[in-house]
Amino acid sequence: MESSKPHAVIVSSPGVGHLVCDLELGNRLVADQNFHVTFFVVLESQASAGESHLIQSAMAQKLLDIVVLPPVDVSGQVGPNSPIFTRLTAVMTEIRPTLRSAISDLKPSPTAIVVDAFGTPVLEVADEIHVLKYVFVTSAWPLALMLYAPILDEEVEGEYVDQKEPLRVPGCMSVRPEDLVDPLLDRTKHEYKVFLQVGSEMRGSDGVLVNTWEDLDTRTLKAIREEEGFGSVSVYAVGPLIKPAGPSASRSELLDWLDEQPIESVLYISFGSLGVLSAQQITELAWGLEMSQQRFIWVLRPPSKKDASADRGDDALNYLPEGFLSRTQKLGLVVTQWAPQSEILCHRSTGGFLSHCGWNSSLESILRGVPMIAWPLYAEQKMNATKLAEEEGVAVRPKIAPTRGLVGREEIEMMVRKVMEDQEAGKAMRARVKELKASGEKALTEGGSSFNAMSQLAEQCAMNSERQKGKGK
Ligand code: UDP
Repeated sequence: MESSKPHAVIVSSPGVGHLVCDLELGNRLVADQNFHVTFFVVLESQASAGESHLIQSAMAQKLLDIVVLPPVDVSGQVGPNSPIFTRLTAVMTEIRPTLRSAISDLKPSPTAIVVDAFGTPVLEVADEIHVLKYVFVTSAWPLALMLYAPILDEEVEGEYVDQKEPLRVPGCMSVRPEDLVDPLLDRTKHEYKVFLQVGSEMRGSDGVLVNTWEDLDTRTLKAIREEEGFGSVSVYAVGPLIKPAGPSASRSELLDWLDEQPIESVLYISFGSLGVLSAQQITELAWGLEMSQQRFIWVLRPPSKKDASADRGDDALNYLPEGFLSRTQKLGLVVTQWAPQSEILCHRSTGGFLSHCGWNSSLESILRGVPMIAWPLYAEQKMNATKLAEEEGVAVRPKIAPTRGLVGREEIEMMVRKVMEDQEAGKAMRARVKELKASGEKALTEGGSSFNAMSQLAEQCAMNSERQKGKGK
């Protein structure tokens, strides 16, 4: 390796959602900004199908030096059902000694350490070795809420969810209590304290990189940079960073099937790497789809353990209504395995995406020009859904939040038809999402806002490493 290159260490916390965009950040730093990147993968247990798939394709690409660290067991500290911030920050605290020793072996030493939103405990390692420390987060509006949370904590009395008015975040869209991110749902819980702590660690970093671009989040980014109460951390909009759709070793049969379908005629349905529906909701979704008579690919997972029934067991297909698969044989496919989502969304036959609005999925849909049915389930997805449906006009969403009640088959049929065949609202959403696609692509090209933000980051790293060398003399 040329020693003149800046050397970034990226530490990716467990979970497909983080790995996907962390890897793409690394790829961009190498390909566009001439960085060397050492990429540490942190796992909680054995890699999931999704994690393995991503690690293998990144290794085959050979852009990054990938190091998969031994899994971290935190079962002695946190329960198996602990919420995500509590669990993952415990994992990222526990990994510190391993990481310290792995980083000290790196030659040349790194210029910067980048972690994702769950990796802030690792920033301590950056301080110890005096290198720059950055946090890479998903979307801008939830970031604003996180940075502003200490002020809300002081100003708001009682639970946020019980407020009569939306929470005011200066310069940003206000946050309706029903859209709040999970850690803010109960202020008495440890998860809430961890959320505040992570926000404060982010404020103390050398910069927060956000997976968005200036034109998508103009107002929110301006607010974070200019309004009081967000701290004075630098914010770099470096996205949209999504998994590229490339040919894989074996072409999925789903893509062969898509080849046979008319253009923009297939609705893709997936709830990300973790999302599950109740047994009853699976039934309603199946009926709604069948009633709509639209083509589909549905990535179906069994309901959560508490909702599964003993007689139907773990096989997701057992939760479909009797005869659904044979009646819809010519219309669609149901898959229970990991699906090549990026490739599916890229296919010309895909015309809509019923999504849980994880930020990666949302960006993938936008960058493929595919309008959405927003079906948020957990984490910051309700805020993402509101942005996509109400601010950007690229999604429809059910009247009742799917986390609060059952979405009925008639409403599902109506939403599917709206996205797939409506000549007014549907067409307008499709046109709008294609505009956003073009603006996202532009941001990443040389001279675009995200490309430039990455270049600024590279400059900051170069300057810092010169300073370090000067001190070492
Ligand atoms: N994904 C996939 N196949 C699947 C499920 C998910 O390729 O069957 C990918 C998807 O393309 C996205 C990521 O996994 O890149 C999920 O990230 P997201 O932020 O959308 O949701 P999360 O899983 O973190 O809730």
